[in-house]
Amino acid sequence: MDDTDVRRTAQRVMELVLRHQRTASAHDARPPAGGPCPACRDAHLPQVERYVAAGEPVLLVLPAFPGKSPNTAKVLGVLPDTAERLALEFLAGLTRRIREVYAPGARILICSDGRVFGDVVGIPDSDITAYQQEMRHLIDALPQPAGIDLFNLEDIPELAGLGHDRMREVLCEQYAEPLEQLRERVRAGEEVALYRAMTRFLFEDGNTPEYTGSRAALQRDARTRAYAVMQRSKAWGDLLGDRFPGAVRLSIHPQPCGAEKLGIHLVDTPDNWLTPWHSVALRTAGGDYVLMKRQEAEELGAEPVLVDGRPAHYALPAAVAAA
Ligand SMILES: [Zn+2]
Repeated sequence: MDDTDVRRTAQRVMELVLRHQRTASAHDARPPAGGPCPACRDAHLPQVERYVAAGEPVLLVLPAFPGKSPNTAKVLGVLPDTAERLALEFLAGLTRRIREVYAPGARILICSDGRVFGDVVGIPDSDITAYQQEMRHLIDALPQPAGIDLFNLEDIPELAGLGHDRMREVLCEQYAEPLEQLRERVRAGEEVALYRAMTRFLFEDGNTPEYTGSRAALQRDARTRAYAVMQRSKAWGDLLGDRFPGAVRLSIHPQPCGAEKLGIHLVDTPDNWLTPWHSVALRTAGGDYVLMKRQEAEELGAEPVLVDGRPAHYALPAAVAAA
């Protein structure tokens, strides 16, 4: 492959990824005729070109799939279900499409951040372990090669044998930004959308039927914990940047135009911030799936559908019979 071929192949790979771009604000450079934003595509081309020039699979690093929200008004339980399966099938479809334009293909490394901030968001370590094991089963059940791997905090050799709390401490000692500095940056207008979304998730997750405190107290607590989640997430992201220096960095959150990370959708959802682990999958009468909060599915009259004896998603009554 000469340089022109390398560039053209890398552009085609990036265009496949950008079809699923999750955007928040306007992307100035988006062509009027549609298609991917050139500024976002070009921000990641050098990494892709290096893989293509070397004839290696393109490595895409995706911090995601921490564990199910602890709020049962939003999710079915602690284990991955149809919502995660759909997202994994989507990611496997993306690596398959990339193989069609570039034979060595791509590897998506899911870097689960559950162990990193589970204590802050209220997911017990045992639930995170169970979630990760079931994620492994779901990945193994995909048509192979799926091009998807998992990477967790405990997969770092230096942390092997430590307790989960100590692993988090070591991560923070080595990578965490001081909380006061993070607060200053948010006050100055940086990462405000992420901070607001994080606060909203934590408020919702804490606003369970069992909660008896005031809304104001819950809101205050959510704000404090949002900073801690952002601090840990960023530490995890920086560690991943060191460990996988040439990789294309993906995110499940919308990112600014041309940013070093690229926000992508995992499943079709009307809410730009909704993820499989904060929701359930609802099977529509047409057989498609959409993500929504469990409570919303139940308010629509949807009923749980069992897969392998476990509730896996919801279906509307007409579709329940057909499922
Ligand atoms: Zn853009």
